[in-house]
Amino acid sequence: MPLLFFVLQELVRSMKITINGGSTGDVRSGQTVGAALSALGVVLSHDVFAARVNGTVVDLSRPLSEDAVVEPLRFDSAEGREVYRHTSTHIMAQAVKEIFPSAQLTIGPALEDSFFYDFAFERAFAPEDLEKIEARAADIIRRNLTITRREFSKQEAIEFFRARGEDYKVELIQGFPDDEPISAYMQGDFVDLCRGPHLPATGLVGAFKLLNTAGAYWRGDERNPMLQRIYGTSFPTKGELDAHLARLEEIKRRDHRKVGKELDLITIQDEIGPGLVLWHPKGAVIRLLIENFWREQHIKDGYDLVYSPHIARLDLWKTSGHVDYYQESMFASMKLEGSEYQLKPMNCPYHIMIYKSHLRSYRDLPIRYGELGTVYRYERTGVLHGLLRVRGFTQDDAHLFCRPDQLETEVSRVLDFTFFILRRFGFNEFEVVLSTRPKESVGADEHWTLATSALEAALKSRPISFSLDPGGGAFYGPKIDVKIKDALGRSWQCSTVQVDFNNPERFELSYTGEDGKAHQPIMIHRALMGSIERFFGILIEHYGGAFPTWLAPVQARVMNITDNQRDYVAAVVAQLKSAGFRAEADLRGEKIGFKIREAEKAKVPFMLVVGDREVQGGTVSVRGRSGSNLGSMTVAGMLDLLRTETLHPQKESQHTS
Ligand SMILES: [Zn+2]
Ligand SMILES: [Zn+2]
Repeated sequence: MPLLFFVLQELVRSMKITINGGSTGDVRSGQTVGAALSALGVVLSHDVFAARVNGTVVDLSRPLSEDAVVEPLRFDSAEGREVYRHTSTHIMAQAVKEIFPSAQLTIGPALEDSFFYDFAFERAFAPEDLEKIEARAADIIRRNLTITRREFSKQEAIEFFRARGEDYKVELIQGFPDDEPISAYMQGDFVDLCRGPHLPATGLVGAFKLLNTAGAYWRGDERNPMLQRIYGTSFPTKGELDAHLARLEEIKRRDHRKVGKELDLITIQDEIGPGLVLWHPKGAVIRLLIENFWREQHIKDGYDLVYSPHIARLDLWKTSGHVDYYQESMFASMKLEGSEYQLKPMNCPYHIMIYKSHLRSYRDLPIRYGELGTVYRYERTGVLHGLLRVRGFTQDDAHLFCRPDQLETEVSRVLDFTFFILRRFGFNEFEVVLSTRPKESVGADEHWTLATSALEAALKSRPISFSLDPGGGAFYGPKIDVKIKDALGRSWQCSTVQVDFNNPERFELSYTGEDGKAHQPIMIHRALMGSIERFFGILIEHYGGAFPTWLAPVQARVMNITDNQRDYVAAVVAQLKSAGFRAEADLRGEKIGFKIREAEKAKVPFMLVVGDREVQGGTVSVRGRSGSNLGSMTVAGMLDLLRTETLHPQKESQHTS
């Protein structure tokens, strides 16, 4: 057949295009994604940035060559935002190149809600530079340059970028496979090596803002040259950008390192060592309250509390497998009287040895050992972060030993207990993930099936939604992880419930069954808060330091207006203290307005102001820390208010099911 026939056939060939969850229609082969979307009724105003075509995210200008399911991507999708921010980083890079032609391009990825670009430049960018770059970026957006994609062979790409003096891009390209095409994106005179996809034009970026600068090593390696990084962010509207910037300010304002210092709660000092926390008196009060609550509730819930030493023979950690599999996270061992000892990275082996100290029968199970166990783990200094990532921390740890038929009930109890404890601290939104068997794992198939279905059944019988992470479990058993959402909507991983088939095997744990034979118990590791240090860091940020009254280190500060009321203030403080509340006096010869401001800064829930009138009436004048005036009340009335405020908002009993 003549060639023309094939060409014609190709030209008229139509493709079936289905809009994700919407209409279906035929379009001519070779149409672009954008044209196909318009043809099928998707309005491409300013908000469609790219599309997912049969699972791959592509430019709207990409031609279609086969039947496809097409999903338009807008700012409300993670991929849509990525395309948007990725284009923003190119706009920033173009602005930098226009103002500082000697700056060389390296890499510039989109992040979750921002982006950055690393430049090889002779000096750090100053705040005045950022202003200029931001103004130039606004101009590039105004120019509304069309963004186009161009493909090169590897050799062409190397020559192209070498000719432009972009040595870092040449180095990147040299690391790419030889036979794959290499793409670049252009807008005006600016060209960047890039996989894409990108917005169709620079004018689609709405509100654009540069945030800050930082130094960063090329390829993250400190032997390489230091590059100059600029962070920025962008949003479709000024309103969204402003809301985001306000949130960033709020995150900074609540930073636990800043608040921890301002409220004198904790410090981490270089003389002590990185990642090692000092709890100052006010932080220690809160920790004591957390621990007391934790212990009381564990005893109520049928746990036995235990204690274990901070070091143990290295052999114990060989039996547990830590020496073989966890070495890089442990401090070096130490020699004592000819044997080796190890600072503990975990509490599990100790609890196992308590289990092993007796013969156990099926009637003894379940056994639940709980401990606020302090552990030490080696983390590189570079990853340490305030209270959130430290080298010494106290886990709210527990190990449960049970029979297979008890597993589901035990997991159910742990879940209820977890939500009860977390709610008590003001966390009411949870993200729950069930992680199943990974490729590399130990344990019999029937154990995995039993444990996984027990975890799943426990989750399904509670009014909580959860997601699956197939293959995300530990090598020794499946697990459930619980993340909490804080006041700013951020998620924090805290609780974990892990089934373990490995340790009972390694330590040869057993119990005598009803049949008189030896059986292996199933072990569950669980922590609810994770570590007290990290949980405290999250609590500080969640409340911005304004802890609920039951946790506040000082619940009431009593202050005099003049020297005449000194004795009365002392008497009020004594009354509050003898009723069990944490009160203190501010008797300084300062103006009352100043004392109130200081108490507000210290986030004391109640300020009790005393003048002559209060002394005569036997009252106090009460202010809340947010500035609210609660009026005048008797000391007895104040005690009632404190009692109501510190009442647990939920029933003491954690088992609702
Ligand atoms: Zn790019
Ligand atoms: Zn454990």
